[in-house]
Amino acid sequence: MPHLVILGAGASLASFPNGDKHGRKLPLMNSLVEKLDLYNHIPDKFEGLITDFEKLYSNISNDDSLLSVKKIIDKKVYEYFYEMNIPNKPTLYDYLILSLRKKDLIATFNWNPLLLKTMRRHSKIVNLPNVAFLHGNVAVGVCKYCNLKGYKYNNICHHCNRPYDDMRLLFPVENKNYSADKTINDEWEMLRHYFEISLYVTIFGYSAPNSDIDAKKLMLDASMKNRSREFYELEIIDIKPEEEVEETWHDFIHSHHYSVIDNFKESYLWHHPRRSTDAFFDAYLMNSPWDDNPFPEFNDIYEMHQWIEPLIREENKKL
Ligand SMILES: [Zn+2]
Repeated sequence: MPHLVILGAGASLASFPNGDKHGRKLPLMNSLVEKLDLYNHIPDKFEGLITDFEKLYSNISNDDSLLSVKKIIDKKVYEYFYEMNIPNKPTLYDYLILSLRKKDLIATFNWNPLLLKTMRRHSKIVNLPNVAFLHGNVAVGVCKYCNLKGYKYNNICHHCNRPYDDMRLLFPVENKNYSADKTINDEWEMLRHYFEISLYVTIFGYSAPNSDIDAKKLMLDASMKNRSREFYELEIIDIKPEEEVEETWHDFIHSHHYSVIDNFKESYLWHHPRRSTDAFFDAYLMNSPWDDNPFPEFNDIYEMHQWIEPLIREENKKL
């Protein structure tokens, strides 16, 4: 049974606390204007909103006379993230990706390319999770002729060799209209499907801000249709106080089947890599708990691949 992982800005920040390979920092919504040096483009009347990008952007995009300002911000944001690169040493994203299998899904709200770039350095591992980009992503290119998505940094479509278009980024405005853009709608279809069939859901560093009210509702509706609703487990990884986290996700919690932790290294995925739902099923539904098999800390990608090799061999035997 699948494991669904939902990532927000907090997950990228926890994985790249010192920024990207060249120290380029991951901005949060309250520091975006400052980190991306957008200050000179913000109209004076919105000066009070520079630490609240969601409100600021909503105001700018609602004002037709500020269309050129909006376009500059869109472009600068895209370019800032597009330039980001992954460090050579393993990050939490490496552990996360290798802790899951093809039957699982990572759905991310993040625009940055770090998840996809990390995934590509594990491309020799065949059994990797699926990924959905819920608010668009700079590492994804879209070919409107073939209706295909690919790796944007390759520049041209792997099928017809025409240049890729950018995948649209959904900015924090109140009515995002997830179904208007076909590419984004496909990603949400995938998320909805996984919400219905997953036995385990992990929400990592996603705070469901006010501007994501539609996103939260779409997810809740889908989780209500979960075929294992009575026993599916929800795990939330967040550094905020537990009461605040419980308040945010209250509607998603079914009786006592949830936990709140503040670190990925305490997660079920860390302790049962590539076997989370198998271990969970046996422990809670068959009353036969497994021994933990936690990841050690790795120095490089080669060590990681060596360590998961026996697990992969076992998976291949079952296929
Ligand atoms: Zn094409």
